[in-house]
Amino acid sequence: MSCAGDSQSGGASLSGAVHPASRSSRFTHLRFRVPDLPSPADLNRARPPTAPLVLGIETSCDETAAAVVGRMADGAPVILSNVVLSQVEEHAAFGGVVPEIAARAHVEAIDGIVRAALVDAGVSLRDLSVVAATLGPGLVGGLIVGAMTGKALAAGAGLAFVGVNHLEGHALTPRLTDAVAYPYLLLLVSGGHTQIVLVKGLGAYERWGTTIDDALGEAFDKTAKLLGLPVPGGPNVERRAAMGDPRRFALPRPMRGEARLDFSFSGLKTAVRQAATAASPLSEQDVADLCASFQAAAADSLADRIGRALARFRAAYPDLADPVLAVAGGVAANRAIRSALDREAQAAGVRLVAPPLLLCTDNGAMIAYAGLERFEAGRVDGLDAPVRSRWPLDEAATPLIGFGRRGAKA
Ligand code: ADP
Ligand code: MG
Repeated sequence: MSCAGDSQSGGASLSGAVHPASRSSRFTHLRFRVPDLPSPADLNRARPPTAPLVLGIETSCDETAAAVVGRMADGAPVILSNVVLSQVEEHAAFGGVVPEIAARAHVEAIDGIVRAALVDAGVSLRDLSVVAATLGPGLVGGLIVGAMTGKALAAGAGLAFVGVNHLEGHALTPRLTDAVAYPYLLLLVSGGHTQIVLVKGLGAYERWGTTIDDALGEAFDKTAKLLGLPVPGGPNVERRAAMGDPRRFALPRPMRGEARLDFSFSGLKTAVRQAATAASPLSEQDVADLCASFQAAAADSLADRIGRALARFRAAYPDLADPVLAVAGGVAANRAIRSALDREAQAAGVRLVAPPLLLCTDNGAMIAYAGLERFEAGRVDGLDAPVRSRWPLDEAATPLIGFGRRGAKA
């Protein structure tokens, strides 16, 4: 299932940010720093005494993550630590994320992950100004674990608390990594979300398009599953596709040519299933050709949608000096998808900003950074701020997925 809401549908939701070492045990974890950003030692030399330091906590899905983010003296944001523990192994046997298992794994890991983030950053709670935690959207058990931990730390250490929308974390990441100025266009393509969002300012988002059924990462994962490929599905489909013929199977390009900017991928997934059934028993080459044909159809559909969105963006803001399309989400790792986006951005005269993959997938640094912007804007929360399993970025946008079994991919 996806982590975007309380969906009960199938499909794995596995992060690309998993280090092999993190699979060996629930308690090992991945630590990474973004290259080219200053080390904590640099920061300690440069840090002005007033710089707000933010601890960010992320537990909305299947990663337990914490990070410390601050600003350099010149105002540039800096990641002091970023610790991500993936739960891939806990969920692997079930073919998707099991909410109850996820919540328990978060409970067991969260203290150690927060401690590791503080140690890596070389700071103690006393050095912080803010604790930010994801309050939604996501699986409610995990959200409660992160929210309660964040609130308890804030209350105990006398720090401000900021509740962050997970999608806002993704949406603001290009500002953390590439200092992108408002406004810009964001494409979020993950296991739980496929959205085009106009980012006008902090807390000011317009959803221009979303999926009416499956998210693109979900479609990759389901395609992998039906072809018998192991998890994580997306990267395995891409690997097979490299050996296949994208023209062998004539698959639909969903939504192509439609004026609205929404997506649809479940028909494509069904077409893959029908093609696979017709061609079975499947040889290795058949599987590779199906993967290549699926990936090409998905990339074409995405390119059509994003091309239209870029035209609308350029028309809405004709005078922008540096128009930007930013991507976030695990599917942005896919090379065919990435080059389709590159082509569309170039054709529209727009710069494509793709943050490092480890910051495109779920992480604590994006939550800490969103918390930093919110704190600086005076938007702090009370300790009674609730978690929300469904929480669209653009509250005014009409939900395209109704109530029922599917998650809130709005
Ligand atoms: P979520 O947290 O919503 O599941 P993530 O941002 O963690 O999403 O990304 C995971 C999704 O990205 C999965 O659906 C995975 O299959 C997909 N993905 C990762 N790498 C690739 C790739 N190379 N090609 C296609 N999809 C990919
Ligand atoms: Mg994830």
